[in-house]
Amino acid sequence: MGFEAEYLTRFQERQTLLFVDYAQGESVDLLPVEASMYGLCSVYRGEGSRSRRDRVLASVATRGRVDWHPIVSDLRMRLGDRSAYAIPDAASWGTVGAAMENDLVELIEIRNRLAIEEGFASYAHLAMWAEGLDLDGVKRFVVAARDSTLPGAHRTVDREHMTLETWFDDLERFGGPGPDDVPTAASELVRLLGLGEAADRISWVVRDQPIYGVAFALEIPDDVRILVGRSGSLSALVVAYHELGHALGHASNRATGVFRTWETTTDESMAVVMEAIAGRLLLTDDEREHIAVIEQCETARIATSLLFEFAVNERPGEGRTLFTEWHEPLVPIDDPAVWARDTFRSIDPFYLQGYLIGSVVAHATVEFLSDRFPDDPNEWGVWLVENYYAPGRAATLSDRLDALGDHRPRELDGVFRL
Ligand SMILES: [Zn+2]
Repeated sequence: MGFEAEYLTRFQERQTLLFVDYAQGESVDLLPVEASMYGLCSVYRGEGSRSRRDRVLASVATRGRVDWHPIVSDLRMRLGDRSAYAIPDAASWGTVGAAMENDLVELIEIRNRLAIEEGFASYAHLAMWAEGLDLDGVKRFVVAARDSTLPGAHRTVDREHMTLETWFDDLERFGGPGPDDVPTAASELVRLLGLGEAADRISWVVRDQPIYGVAFALEIPDDVRILVGRSGSLSALVVAYHELGHALGHASNRATGVFRTWETTTDESMAVVMEAIAGRLLLTDDEREHIAVIEQCETARIATSLLFEFAVNERPGEGRTLFTEWHEPLVPIDDPAVWARDTFRSIDPFYLQGYLIGSVVAHATVEFLSDRFPDDPNEWGVWLVENYYAPGRAATLSDRLDALGDHRPRELDGVFRL
């Protein structure tokens, strides 16, 4: 098998392990599969052609030589496993962060060093490059997203006495009640969009735990699974729509080889698109108002978190000071050591832009679909498969937005790497 086929096999193997870990609660060892991905990436030499497939393979291999490096894998695995730190169950977030801080600083430093060896100015530069994004353009876009939502979000935080620790519970309470059986509620959306054929390849696992969701692609397009937590709130329903967006993208992917994998920004955008479609087609005016307030708080929080991440990537030794500086305009910070317990710094670095870019993509897509097919959600489904899902990674996010014609969102113009 060549690099491409071998990499796809390992990629899906890793997804299967993650599913076993998250959904079945068995502890799994990711190190062997990541080591084998590292081995593949380190011997890969590009063909030098400029086809989209060769460029994707080069980007996968370049990022792989950093993300799957044995030291990076090892630190990431440790940081994902609280039991490695002997922290009491009842420990505060600050205590957890303080225990993990040295490992996280080391992880950030080594990722930067490996990225520099690959010819990039930093790991942030490499990560954005591999996503097809321009670092400076993304920063400008994120600052604008933060600035336009911070005042409103801050008022909500004040009024509801929110803290980072209570953030998600507060927003869930605020959103109000939802159906008890979210997979069944989400299947109503599938029916409206006429996507039953793809949905047959998706299975749901419900675990009784805090609101939460993840989609796993064990075999693309034939075996996609969604894990969701407890039901009964509007927030939990929105999470289910979100995960359905990820899953439909994988289950409707008609591409081959590495085009079955994804750039995380594109993947997140597809999930946020489905949230917005569900909002338009299924939610009441009252529910949509609640969601808008939640979205404003979340945009402000995620943009703040990502701007902090860019800063701490440059000065990892100053995590606590930078965390307070960036977060205090939004929410009070008691113990800045909490910065080191956030898995978006360790397990999913430079991932958060996907939610922010996705939100713009989602609103533009819903406007486009409502204009183009006003009374026919079935046509929305057909359009999504043809233009967004079927091409897989052969189509960049920017390519997909071309299909929106005049509805292509101008505010994203600067974020894509040309
Ligand atoms: Zn997602």
